[in-house]
Amino acid sequence: MEKSPKGRNIDVVIFGAGIAGLWTFHALKKRGYDVLLLERDEIGCGQTLASQGIIHSGLKFSLAGKVSSLAKTISAMPDRWREALDGKGNVDLSQAQVNAQSQHLMIPPGFFGGLTKIVTQKALGESVRSVPQKEWSADVQSTGFKGSVIFMNEPVLDVPSVLRALATPYMDCIKKIGHEEADAPFDFLKKQNITAKQIIFTSAKSNHNIAQYADEANGLETQHRPLLQGMLRGAPFDLFAHLVGKTDKPVASITTHKTENGERVWYLGGGVAERAKDANPDDVYRNALAAFKSYLPQIDFSDAVWATLPIDRVEGKSNTDGWMPDTPTIHHGENALYCWPTKLTFAPLLYDMIQVDLDKKGISPSCTSSDFSDLPQAAFAKPPWDKCDWVKL
Ligand SMILES: Cc1cc2nc3c(=O)[nH]c(=O)nc-3n(C[C@H](O)[C@H](O)[C@H](O)COP(=O)(O)OP(=O)(O)OC[C@H]3O[C@@H](n4cnc5c(N)ncnc54)[C@H](O)[C@@H]3O)c2cc1C
Repeated sequence: MEKSPKGRNIDVVIFGAGIAGLWTFHALKKRGYDVLLLERDEIGCGQTLASQGIIHSGLKFSLAGKVSSLAKTISAMPDRWREALDGKGNVDLSQAQVNAQSQHLMIPPGFFGGLTKIVTQKALGESVRSVPQKEWSADVQSTGFKGSVIFMNEPVLDVPSVLRALATPYMDCIKKIGHEEADAPFDFLKKQNITAKQIIFTSAKSNHNIAQYADEANGLETQHRPLLQGMLRGAPFDLFAHLVGKTDKPVASITTHKTENGERVWYLGGGVAERAKDANPDDVYRNALAAFKSYLPQIDFSDAVWATLPIDRVEGKSNTDGWMPDTPTIHHGENALYCWPTKLTFAPLLYDMIQVDLDKKGISPSCTSSDFSDLPQAAFAKPPWDKCDWVKL
């Protein structure tokens, strides 16, 4: 007869080791909560490692005329992350790396540049300023770009190192579960004889299915946005920029990353990526090349190799014309919270909201750490550029 594991009464169990689950897990562990984090696949394997790592301050949303609540909530986030990077926040990211301290907007002449400046300066003060051409970096000068460059005080993080910084101190409480167990999480806990004062789901797309399975989906609405992100290996220099076009979405949002072999990759989001996941990758490459030809005309991309990543963005449903919600969202079940950060940037705010919930319920740290050594260890996922198939055009 199978021996049933010894009973564990813990404070919190979290399902899903993306940024939402990991930030919350680390912050709770740091405060002395007894927490178990369970991952169905690999740490970071979902949207988190697919993200561009941009810690938004709201500027992009101001561009879209969404200055109001989203820009205001989000403008506090870069400081929260910087605090954590200094080792002073409610999580310790002092071991994480920053890919860039700031980014640029590249605005072609005649494209509502003046308006952009007025809107952003009003909303975001010192975090945005126009960079005179003589101060452009040699790399930007070399592109042949004509137009305005706007400085944005928004860091871009190396997401794999963020995940390691959050997970490594507490690896013995981050465990892997099988797909079948992940589909029936309450049964899994019962079988393992684990009870928790609070169950938290940060399982992105699966949250909705689990809430349905638990008969707790009443009033819950989520939205998915399919993306086909582009990747270009053999990029000429580090670039962290949004190529601004005529619509509210940049033509392309470019961040720079390194493969495990040290090769430079431009990761391409924004307009070039906004297409069905099953769209032809050639559409992404063709659109990216057309954008580069217009914005960066002097760069030769003939030696580059390309790849795409199909991925869904998942978040609580917004009630404003399909635009993203202003904040993270939490759907309350009986003993479960179903959580979506909406953006990587909002992970600290989601944790704040969860902590308020725990405080309201009187769930305080038990200052113990249960033994989970009977459960298998979760491993770290690789970022998209280390597991894709590259093609030469
Ligand atoms: C292409 C792209 C680019 C983006 N760029 C940015 C950006 O630059 N800046 C920004 O702020 N935001 C960005 N975002 C948004 C951001 O990535 C997401 O909002 C954030 O990563 C969501 O984190 P999460 O932890 O909720 O979800 P995920 O990262 O998707 O994590 C969910 C985890 O749960 C696991 N899981 C699923 N089901 C179960 C289960 N039943 N049991 C246990 N585990 C389970 C999954 O395997 C996964 O590891 C981007 C998103 C995309 C798709």
